[in-house]
Amino acid sequence: MAVVVVPVVADGPTLSILVGTAAVAIAALGLDVLVGRAGQLSLAHAALLGVGGFTAVNVGGRGGPWPLAVVAAVVVTAAVSTVAGLPSLRIRGLQVAVVTLALQVMAERFLFVRPDVTAGSLTLERPALLEADVPLYLFSVACVALVLLVRRRLGSTRTGRALLAVRDVEARAGAFGVEAGPTKLFAYTLSGAIVGLGGAVLATKATAFGTAIDPFRLLQSLLLVAIVVVGGAGSGSGIILASLFIHTLPQVVDALKRSGPLVSAVLLVVSIVAQPEGIGGVLRDIPRRLRRGREQRPSPRPRLVELAAASEAAADLRRVPRKLALQMPVRALLEAREVGVRYGGVLALDDLSLEVRRGEIVGLIGANGAGKSTFFNAVSGFAPVTGSIRYKGAELLNRPPVRRSTYGLARTFQDMGLVRAETVRENVLLAQTWLARYPGAAGILGLGGTMSQERELRRRAGLALELFGLEHLASERLGDLPYGTMRTVEIAAAVASGPDLLLLDEASAGLGPDESQALGERFLALRDELGLTLVVIEHHVPLIARVCDYCYCLESGRLIAEGSPAEVTSQASVIASFLGRAASQEAVL
Ligand code: ATP
Repeated sequence: MAVVVVPVVADGPTLSILVGTAAVAIAALGLDVLVGRAGQLSLAHAALLGVGGFTAVNVGGRGGPWPLAVVAAVVVTAAVSTVAGLPSLRIRGLQVAVVTLALQVMAERFLFVRPDVTAGSLTLERPALLEADVPLYLFSVACVALVLLVRRRLGSTRTGRALLAVRDVEARAGAFGVEAGPTKLFAYTLSGAIVGLGGAVLATKATAFGTAIDPFRLLQSLLLVAIVVVGGAGSGSGIILASLFIHTLPQVVDALKRSGPLVSAVLLVVSIVAQPEGIGGVLRDIPRRLRRGREQRPSPRPRLVELAAASEAAADLRRVPRKLALQMPVRALLEAREVGVRYGGVLALDDLSLEVRRGEIVGLIGANGAGKSTFFNAVSGFAPVTGSIRYKGAELLNRPPVRRSTYGLARTFQDMGLVRAETVRENVLLAQTWLARYPGAAGILGLGGTMSQERELRRRAGLALELFGLEHLASERLGDLPYGTMRTVEIAAAVASGPDLLLLDEASAGLGPDESQALGERFLALRDELGLTLVVIEHHVPLIARVCDYCYCLESGRLIAEGSPAEVTSQASVIASFLGRAASQEAVL
């Protein structure tokens, strides 16, 4: 509405300022693809805006048609941004920010001082249609809308979800079949393409930059970061509002003209202190509060669902294309032989041999530090392993970790491996990343079978949430739920990924006695109704005694006992190492 009213009430110079604001907002929205989605900070986005702007003038000023100038700005900036993202494959966090700072300074000092780069003597010829202020303004608004649309599409693709995993749980993203490196690079490419479009908008407005490179200096890069922080990382509308506050207000309000940067600085400080999630956080909270006022808040606990009554849905979840067929004959689904894991001076696993037969629930017990989680890490590819781990008869250790989910292996982590800042549904979709196979760009454009693949993932996510009594919590932020519910979501997500073998690390942590009892029933149902094989790390011995078909006890990385839960928990070595007499008696009872 405001977009339509503005050209009626605003004069030419104001519209021109707003076109500039649109370019800045586009650049900030592009930066936010890195900050909000991929968790990467760039201090070189003003330089990238310059690359886009100068490319457009270079192409358009040398006789290239205007659409070609715009496309060239997008493509060249995307390419430069991708190259700028290469160091992020090896380094993280502040180090990445420092590298981008160096790029910004280098661009300013060595590139943007060259007339052949800035196209100082050239003028971009814009189409006659965009000569007047109002159409130019509407064009810039359309570009902002296009970027918002692209960001929205990104959010509903496998690549968009993979970026969330890279942002929040990078070291574990491989468990979902997410390849962190290419995923990050895609974010840099997309971010660059968006900023390039911003540069083209700026070039279309200015038609020539000459030596005026102020919009592309370091201060502008910092302002872009400020806009993302004040607007709220991940929030398109918040970032647009912040662009208006930080970029437009100081130019149209006389009193603020000289104190623009100061206003930005104050807004930044206030925003960080009072509202860390920025304007976007406020905007997100308003509908949530309104809904809560009208509706009753759903119980944050899972509903109790009889898995046996949902066997069809369960069978449906198991129908997934497997990358690794069972090699017959095999002694066991999982077979570890003389497995060793060393972390510096710590021998976390020492000559460990064990096997997991198909269709069984196998318990892994032992005192803290015994090596249980390390065994899971070894199987899923997160630890440096010697020895042999065969799965379905095939050696796992020479296969990349990121491929293992495609073989039917899924796991949970002791301290939650999901993205707490996202909704329950997004997390269940994220766990199925390996099931959708299409390039990020195809997903954003909705090409080929991408839409139907996404629909299928959503259908599967719905089934998994229903199976675990979580469908009423699908839109809740995972981090807002009680810990026990989060753990259930993690199991539901792992089951949604269609595994044959499920590795559950302390799934009962944080659960009360009733919930623990229900979890035991669920383990049995996962085995009996879904036909899954489970390995469960548990400290809760009665649970192990009730559900496990077989049990292994570790101590200091070595196997000290194996057998039925009753046999294991009654062995003297296990009692001395792990149980203590009281717990042992409880288990046997
Ligand atoms: P808990 O129940 O406390 O998690 P656990 O049986 O799962 O215990 P692990 O987490 O596997 O034990 O740890 C086994 C040993 O390996 C411990 O001494 C631990 O400190 C060490 N360890 C585990 N992971 C690492 C790592 N990434 N780097 C260094 N040492 C590690």
